[in-house]
Amino acid sequence: MILTFHQVPGESDPIQKDVPHAAIFARQMEWLAEFCTVLPLSEAVKRLREGTLPSSAACITFDDGYADNLTVAAPILKELGLPATFFITVGAVEQGIMWNDLVIEGIRQARGDLDLKDIGYGHHRLVDEAAQRDSVRRVISQLKYQPLEERLSIAKRIFSRAASDEAPPRLMMTEEQVSELCVLGFDIGAHTVNHPILMELPQDDARREIEASRDWVTSVTGRPPESFAYPNGRPNTDFNSEHESMVREAGFSLAVSTRWSSATSTSSQFSLPRIAPWEQQRLGFWLRLAKTTARSYVGR
Ligand SMILES: [Zn+2]
Repeated sequence: MILTFHQVPGESDPIQKDVPHAAIFARQMEWLAEFCTVLPLSEAVKRLREGTLPSSAACITFDDGYADNLTVAAPILKELGLPATFFITVGAVEQGIMWNDLVIEGIRQARGDLDLKDIGYGHHRLVDEAAQRDSVRRVISQLKYQPLEERLSIAKRIFSRAASDEAPPRLMMTEEQVSELCVLGFDIGAHTVNHPILMELPQDDARREIEASRDWVTSVTGRPPESFAYPNGRPNTDFNSEHESMVREAGFSLAVSTRWSSATSTSSQFSLPRIAPWEQQRLGFWLRLAKTTARSYVGR
């Protein structure tokens, strides 16, 4: 089982209620340490190939490069001795915030009516947190598949129209913080520069996104990354076998998707499925893991 996380905020976030905050994350990691053999991702994939993977093997991954990965998640993982891989979106580290968080942080600050009709993103009555969550979901799902530059520029317009702050907050790690994570012994993987939907890009641009993120990680950590995560990650919707070949040719030894399942010996090494254990209760967490494992065997 390869688990996916994104941000791990110190406190519960009412706009992103299913994101595990520090206390929930710590509890999930304690269960994982108790019930699973948590391995570094590259070792687990090698042993899956060799047939020497222990039962209940698990890997922990984080996508995008949020600053709270270093400040909140890393100390919890260190305390429990758990390895993890952090997939970095280079452009997000450079800009300090991802396009989707510009929307979230804008709507978080907006009060009352937010009129985005003139730019094609509807009219929003932000009367309470439920309405904020609904608006975030609607705007992000519409923006996600827009061309890269348009996606970012619209997100910036939404932020400046909705928020009272002049500048968006920095939510992502700095380059120094990524390096710090590496020095702490964690694995750093690549996740493109601009977080594009690779299937929406011309082939040369997709290849450049993959290779430039590899080069950035190499320069920050001092060694080429072994692992890559596809942005958005749905096979044949967000990436396809051509992108798997590009990742292999770029020198990576494995890549992860967001297809919801656990990996088996028949899984492609360049399209490994993952699961996001966001249930907050112990029972739901383990039932979901069990269900995922069962389904991956049934589906073989
Ligand atoms: Zn991502």
